Amino acid sequence: MIIIPKRDYDASQLENLIGWLKGRGLEVHISKGENMTVIGLIGDTSKVDIDLIRSLDVVEDVKRIQEPFKNANRKFHPQDTVVHIGGVKIGGGNFQFIAGPCSVESESQIIGIAKAVKAAGAKLLRGGAFKPRTSPYAFQGLRGEGIRLLLEAKRETGLPIVTEIMDISQLPLFEEVDVLQVGARNMQNFELLKELGKTKKPILLKRGMSSTLQELVMSAEYIMAGGNENVILCERGIRTFETSTRNTLDLCAIPVLKSMTHLPVVIDPSHATGYAKYVKPMSLAAAAAGADGLIVEVHNDPQHALCDGQQSITPEAFASLAENVEKILPFAAK
Ligand code: PEP
Ligand code: MN
Repeated sequence: MIIIPKRDYDASQLENLIGWLKGRGLEVHISKGENMTVIGLIGDTSKVDIDLIRSLDVVEDVKRIQEPFKNANRKFHPQDTVVHIGGVKIGGGNFQFIAGPCSVESESQIIGIAKAVKAAGAKLLRGGAFKPRTSPYAFQGLRGEGIRLLLEAKRETGLPIVTEIMDISQLPLFEEVDVLQVGARNMQNFELLKELGKTKKPILLKRGMSSTLQELVMSAEYIMAGGNENVILCERGIRTFETSTRNTLDLCAIPVLKSMTHLPVVIDPSHATGYAKYVKPMSLAAAAAGADGLIVEVHNDPQHALCDGQQSITPEAFASLAENVEKILPFAAK
């Protein structure tokens, strides 16, 4: 349920109402925007008399929220959420590039790529240390050593780091990691989501390859229900009947998620297409459709990459992509 107070509401009357609602065991969430304040209620509102609340002097309107997600709902929180990562902002008009290799392979590889993507405009460095691979015989990532090398690259370049957590047991290793990525395969690992909800770390939540947008938002809700509002949603392509690309990039996810939620939406054109040559056109399309950022796989030597070389672009190609995307941003859908 949401309550919209009158524009020139009396603060003490509103305080009384909030106290009364809390006394009924409801969690009260206040969102103060430039033009409107919204009071969101979480909990069992079935016993709240909607007509009684509507009749109060201080109240303009009351609405029941039909959707099963509350914290992530835009009706609850009309203005865009801006996630702060160190000094970097994402969302609410702040577009960012996250770039780096699929996996961290060595110190010189990650530091070299970090410097190159920073020079091209990336504000965050990606790199997998724990890799979810289809085959148990494929490279599984450098694990703890990979995180150590990412932190080394962060010290060298100042770029905050984004890396995937696959299991709750890995959490102590992520203490200095700036953004924890939850991969497509773990989008519905609810125990992991609940644990991440107890932290204040920004979370990059990737859409499961066969998940609906509502399921993605419900997974964000798990994190937010625990008290962590720093969630960035990521569309990375879904499974369809099409076989010419690794996945099918659902660009509709951008406007749809933005109307459902107030969270930033980032696009991953690398996993969505699976081919380096399609990464730039899809990046331009995503920027035009109103995405808040891109997460792009960049490798200095894609042919010899230990993971996802086929879809990785070179630092030079990334520089050209970033330059072109910047030109589109002033015309992007709002
Ligand atoms: C990745 O970002 O390297 C990755 C494994 O992504 P996804 O979970 O989207 O497959
Ligand atoms: Mn990858």
